[in-house]
Amino acid sequence: EKSSSGQTGGGPEAHNSYGLQNQVDMRFDGQTVVVTGAGGGLGKAYATFFGSRGANVVVNDLGGSFKGEGKSSKAADVVVDEIKAAGGKAVANYDSVENGEAIIDTAIKAFGRIDVLINNAGILRDISFKNMKDEDWDLIMKVHVRGAYKCARAAWPHFRKQKYGRVINTASAAGLFGSFGQCNYSAAKLAQVGFTETLAKEGLKYNILCNVIAPIAASRMTQTVMPPDVLENLKPDWVVPLVAVLVHPSNTKETGSIFEVGGGHIAKLRWERAKGALLRADESLTPGAILTKWDGVIDFSQPSYPTGPANFMELLEEAQKLPANPP
Ligand code: NAD
Repeated sequence: EKSSSGQTGGGPEAHNSYGLQNQVDMRFDGQTVVVTGAGGGLGKAYATFFGSRGANVVVNDLGGSFKGEGKSSKAADVVVDEIKAAGGKAVANYDSVENGEAIIDTAIKAFGRIDVLINNAGILRDISFKNMKDEDWDLIMKVHVRGAYKCARAAWPHFRKQKYGRVINTASAAGLFGSFGQCNYSAAKLAQVGFTETLAKEGLKYNILCNVIAPIAASRMTQTVMPPDVLENLKPDWVVPLVAVLVHPSNTKETGSIFEVGGGHIAKLRWERAKGALLRADESLTPGAILTKWDGVIDFSQPSYPTGPANFMELLEEAQKLPANPP
């Protein structure tokens, strides 16, 4: 196996440190890719890309407004026509992602298989927390959380049976960092991270790799909140190549990862754990005792990067060796 680390222009055989092949022309011939919410924005960019790279594409879109009102078959049809006109293979599906079985069924009926699921559909119901109504909260949870679950749940048995599957879920900076007026959306978007982490763990044995992206791109979702000159440099097309790399068969390792992507910037994100403090776990573990060690609790000068919870059994043993905590 050749290594291309530190080199550019490696051939199709070249691998980087993550085992991702540097494929000059990354293709998806014979594979079926389901893209939800593919009638516009990022979803359309994914669908047309995979259609141009040999994949069978299921173009799902409910065709409603960005607030989740109404529906129409037009959004998906336009994209299917575009892919076909360019010589690709695509079928439309107009179901809501809440009806994931029907979407995956479309893939199986039309193409006999599903290899890649891109959970991308989404809507907004922005409103300050003070004014939020149950329906704003519930609708966002239904489309983003239940929608991603239902589509992945329906694809899962196929992925397991064929011992192959690739999933992309769509988070957002709003979920990772919070965003004024978007607490419903933020909660639903961070849910994609936990969902992805667990699917990645459960899928690994079956060669089902799952990653989550926090994209930024010009779409009808962002056109009212960002100035036109900024939007001009945030084409959905600049998000697509990372997704292609992650869902291609040559990715055999990258799973359970979070990526920030947009406008040419691509970076992986991870958790950071502070140095921490260890206290004896007995009655002397009082609020005051914690405050005596607070500096350590919040000390990020010697961080660690956990991929799981602290080892509590080990810590407990250590903690029990400590003298009683100072009052
Ligand atoms: P968009 O509004 O252009 O695309 C979303 C698509 O999903 C629309 O075509 C819509 O009709 C479809 N859709 C909505 N509800 C659906 C449902 N129930 N079933 C099926 N289809 C449905 O917006 P976009 O910016 O392309 O967003 C794509 C994804 O990226 C969303 O999940 C969004 O939350 C996320 N995102 C986008 C940005 C950004 O900067 N554009 C930032 C962070 C996250």
